[in-house]
This record gives sequence, C-alpha cells and structure tokens, in this order.
Amino acid sequence: MITYRTIVGPTIFILFLFFGVITFGQESVIKPAIHKSIQQQTNKIFDDLVKIRRDFHMNPEVSEQEKRTAQKIKEYLLSIGLEVKTGIGGNGVVGILKGAKEGKKIAWRADIDAMPSEIPDVVDFKSKTEGVRHICGHDVHATIALGIANVLASQKDQLKGTVYFIFQPSEENYKGAQAMIEDGLFDIINPEEIYAAHIAPLPATMISTKPEWLFADYKVIEVSYKNSGDDDAMIEYTKTLLKSFQNVELGSKFFDPQSLLNPAIGLANPNTIFKDYTTVYDNFNVKKTEDLISIKTYVGSSIFNELDRILPQVKQKIKSSKYSTSLVNVSYSGDRVNLMNDKKLTNKAMNAISTVYGSQSVIRLYGEMPDGRGDDFSYFQERVPGVYFFLGGSNFEKGIISMPHAPNFAIDESCIKTGVNYFSSMIVERLDQ
Ligand SMILES: [Zn+2]
Ligand SMILES: [Zn+2]
Repeated sequence: MITYRTIVGPTIFILFLFFGVITFGQESVIKPAIHKSIQQQTNKIFDDLVKIRRDFHMNPEVSEQEKRTAQKIKEYLLSIGLEVKTGIGGNGVVGILKGAKEGKKIAWRADIDAMPSEIPDVVDFKSKTEGVRHICGHDVHATIALGIANVLASQKDQLKGTVYFIFQPSEENYKGAQAMIEDGLFDIINPEEIYAAHIAPLPATMISTKPEWLFADYKVIEVSYKNSGDDDAMIEYTKTLLKSFQNVELGSKFFDPQSLLNPAIGLANPNTIFKDYTTVYDNFNVKKTEDLISIKTYVGSSIFNELDRILPQVKQKIKSSKYSTSLVNVSYSGDRVNLMNDKKLTNKAMNAISTVYGSQSVIRLYGEMPDGRGDDFSYFQERVPGVYFFLGGSNFEKGIISMPHAPNFAIDESCIKTGVNYFSSMIVERLDQ
C-alpha cells in the first residue's frame, strides 16, 4: 500500500539528506565482530539476492494469488536450514530461526504481493504477467527478508534467541495481516518485538522513521439526513460545520508540497508544521436519493484519537441546530488501523543502526505525513510492539526514484545490501538487549 496521495511528491525525501540527519548519543556496539561477519555474508550472497529479486519481479502475483512466490520463499528458507510453516492466512509463510542460545524472540515481516498495473515497467527484467507489476517494491522486501534470514542463519552459533520471518501476502488489498492473525499466526510464533521496512524515495543508503505515527490518521466521515426537499442550506451548513474542525489555514504553507522538504518546517525538523493538525477535504461527495441525503468527505488528523473526538462533536452540533430532526446518522467508514511505532523500540532500533552504520544512515522524522495511507503491518503492531521503517531505494544521480506506485517506480538494487546489513545488525543488537 503506502501511497502518498496528493501533496507528498516523489522529491520530498531528497532534501531530508541535507537537514534530517540525526545525531544520537552513540551507544557502544555490543558485538562489533558479528557486524563485520554480517557484512561479509551479505556481500557474499548479494548477487544471488539480486537474481531472486529479479525472479520475483518477472513473476509478480497479485494479492491472494502469491502461490509461486510463497513456494520460492519456502524453498529458500528450507535450503538455509530454517523451520518453515506455510499456508498461513492464504499464502503466508513463516520461517523460524533458532539461535544457539536461549533469548528474546523477534519477528521481521515482509509483504510479498504485486499489483495490477498496466503501466509499462521501466526495467529490462520486465514482468512476464500481463497487467501485473511489482510497483510497490514488495519483490525487494521479500528478498531482503530472505537475505536477513540467510545472514542471521550464518551466525546461528552466536545468536541468542529466536528470529521469525513473516512473509505476508495480500498487503495491497489490506487483508493479509489480519488473515494471518486470524489463521493463528500468534499461536505458531510469539515474538516480543516486530519490525518491517518499506521502500521509500530516500537514497539507497538510508532508512528513516519516527516513534508513534508516521502518517496522519484518515477516515471518511458521512453525515446523512432525511431528504425533505429543501436541503441546499442544510448541505452548506454541514460543509461549514465539518470544515470548522480543520486547524490549518487554507492557502497556508501546510498545503504547499514544498513545505514538506523545507528545512525549517518540514517533516524532518523538530519544529515541523506537520504536527498536531487536522484537515477536512474540500471536495465533499453529496448524494441524494428519494429518502436520504448523504454528505461525505475525508477527515485526517495527526493528533492521536482526534477523529474519535470529532464524531460526537459533529453529532451534537447538528442536534442542537435547526436540522436536528432531519439528521439520520453521523458515521465513519473506511476504518484502517494506523501504523503505531513503539516509542522505546523506535529509538533503540534507530540507535543500533546509527551506531553500527553511522548517523548519516538514519533520518529521524518528526512530523506525520498528511494525506497518506499506511500499511496493514499496523495489525501486527496492535499485537506486538514494533517499528516500521522507510528504506531508501533511490539513486538520484542515476535518475532512479523509488516512489511506490509511481509510473516510473524503480529501485537501486544496492538497497538490498543496505537493508540486509542494517536490519540484520539491528536484530542482533535487539536480541542482545
Ligand atoms: Zn503498494
Ligand atoms: Zn507496498
């Protein structure tokens, strides 16, 4: 999923480069030697990983049909000695890697599905399935997870604890995480922490994230009335009422896409303007039937639980207006659980990567992206504290911009190396704490 709709353009991450680099208090690395071994093993398997990624890319499968992909994942995991469970929540696969010593249990999740897309692919290893394309980078996510599994399996004797690899189907239709959970995923595995990453238009040497929300929360609000014939004033009243919940000024810098990259007010600045905001879409959808009038629009907020507070307020205001007797209902639809990064784990995970790979590798965000939709990884985070990262896949000098779902979406495959290195090291550091 992870699309940035109207106001987040593909270039927004570029300028993070120049102002977003964090400077953590550096913690000492617990096991410097193992990180060296991790990097050596990653280098050793990199060419194979690229082949695997291209094979996934050429054989994309849409949500709920990831049979071949799941089979390939299973074969690979078995070949490196993991215990494997298949058919969880459809085509879900789980690999279990037990370290030599007892310890913590950590899960890494990768989504594996492709998307229907008629847009011609921009790489030589094009999709062989007409109308289906890996345009969201899940081919890379699956490959990185296999790479981490391989690298950590190669360090099995040093590992303290268990690592679970969750290969989740059906992310694009937002069903796979819930399906795996309902199918008993957490009866099979019991992770104490869970992590995932999604390709984003950052340089392929970087990751970024923040504690708690990465995206504002969005819902569709619908106000419905009995159709009494004379309703223009009522519709106008309702639009004005809903718009009154917006706390950012129309025409202000908030609505200028360039502001997201602005060093002084953008997402990566602690004083960002993309904090504590609520927005209400202007383009209301008004539908009339013989009996009912329905007025719908999007409401978004970066303030925790704000949408839950808005609904009863709308209801109450209409009830104390002259339209009280016409009101039928005020409700939300299109409910999605927003991603929620665990505060402590986010800081610890960012610290671990920053300590091993340098502070220039990690960009801390402060604001929540407006107008975005997340990832159903949020359903796992409801059960297990975890962190969702953005992983850079771009190479601006080569003109490769890894903006998910964009027609020219492409990946600098060196991000596979970055992902395998950074996240293998992060998992090892987390197992040790
Ligand atoms: Zn997507
Ligand atoms: Zn995606």
